[in-house]
Amino acid sequence: MTGNRARTLLAAGTVALVVLTGCGDGNDSPSTVATPLASLPPAEVVDRALSDIERFWTATYPSISDGKAFQPLQGGYHPYTQGSPPPACGGEEGVYQPNAFYCPVGDFIAWDAEQLIPQLQSNFGQLLVALVMAHEYGHAVQHRLGVTDQPTVVLEQQADCFAGAWLADAMAGHSGSFNGITPAQIDAALAGMLQLRDQPGTSATNEGAHGNAFDRIRALQDGVQNGATKCAGYSAENLPITEVPFTQERDAATGGNLPYDEAVATIIKDVEAYWAKAYPELTGQPWKQLSVQPFDAASPPACPNPDAIAGGAAFYCPDGDFIAYDDQKLQALYEQLGDNAVGLLLGDLYARAVQHRRGQSTQGSAGQLAVDCLNGSWTYDLLHRPKKSDVTTLSPGDLDEAVAALLALGRATGESGASGFERIAAYRDGVLNGLSACK
Ligand SMILES: [Zn+2]
Repeated sequence: MTGNRARTLLAAGTVALVVLTGCGDGNDSPSTVATPLASLPPAEVVDRALSDIERFWTATYPSISDGKAFQPLQGGYHPYTQGSPPPACGGEEGVYQPNAFYCPVGDFIAWDAEQLIPQLQSNFGQLLVALVMAHEYGHAVQHRLGVTDQPTVVLEQQADCFAGAWLADAMAGHSGSFNGITPAQIDAALAGMLQLRDQPGTSATNEGAHGNAFDRIRALQDGVQNGATKCAGYSAENLPITEVPFTQERDAATGGNLPYDEAVATIIKDVEAYWAKAYPELTGQPWKQLSVQPFDAASPPACPNPDAIAGGAAFYCPDGDFIAYDDQKLQALYEQLGDNAVGLLLGDLYARAVQHRRGQSTQGSAGQLAVDCLNGSWTYDLLHRPKKSDVTTLSPGDLDEAVAALLALGRATGESGASGFERIAAYRDGVLNGLSACK
């Protein structure tokens, strides 16, 4: 390995131990999800996870290493507490931090068994605890493959991808401990990953950058869908990294959030202009300007068959061909998750209008995923504009706000039947590949 980075941390900086409180109906609290391992203490969950991940790599490693056998960790596993700090890693003294890490020099994994792991388990479920261990194990795999001479952000996403490869194996029923994994458990774990992201505005080239949540979840899903061989091929040349540093003073001061009223007006103007351009491309027909109305919860506009989201707080009305949203609820979403959560919601309604106007369904899982892809295609457009002062662009953190909003509005138990995992994947397809991905 190169550089003097002695250890590979789970997350850059301080880990924010905050529960993502969804703005749904309150049924999406991950701590209420029933799971086969729910009654196990965190230490037992960690033990079972590590032994299962070792099983996975013993079986899988030869296929990505020209047949070489997997060598289990030589330095073992080390839970630590404030009173009993982690072992030294190379020349670096072991200091308590609410974190988890792999130490290449000592070839061991260590984790905060006092705060981090118990809190992750109680807030997001034991699957997140296992994924954290699988991520750290991914660093051990990189070390064995000899691929550590890459930017940190690539190594971190590769570790997430390797964790996803383990998850797919467990989902396929090969794990003795993590079986019967449900979409709700996965969505809870994804919500936890949002808490382990880099702070918005971290440059992807920073030492210690792990990637934003959008990129990290992409990497995890890549591992789930395409397996360890795909992860092993990660390099700076082939990874789509969306993490961008703050480039405007105003962004840095506000965290990239416009004031609410300005955000709503800017978003509506922008998504309207996008579809005026994109709808003819998609259908060969001209786009008619869409009417958008805020309403008070006590007096929503009349609509016989609303195509509603967010529990009816926002809808497209096919009969009147207009969009309406509960202004107070939208503002609450803005305050909770940020301005691009508003963008995600309004963009969803525009995508519904697109589908209705061109005679396509928005219902059920397939309809929702089509809407999410179209919504993502608008974000693709935002990401590929020339950076000029009069052009609306995304701020650091905006993609994570969209992912958080998707999880808050569309957990596995939600209205459409599509899981948050599937919805994020469909949205990302539009974000990374544009309108052509949604045809
Ligand atoms: Zn890492």
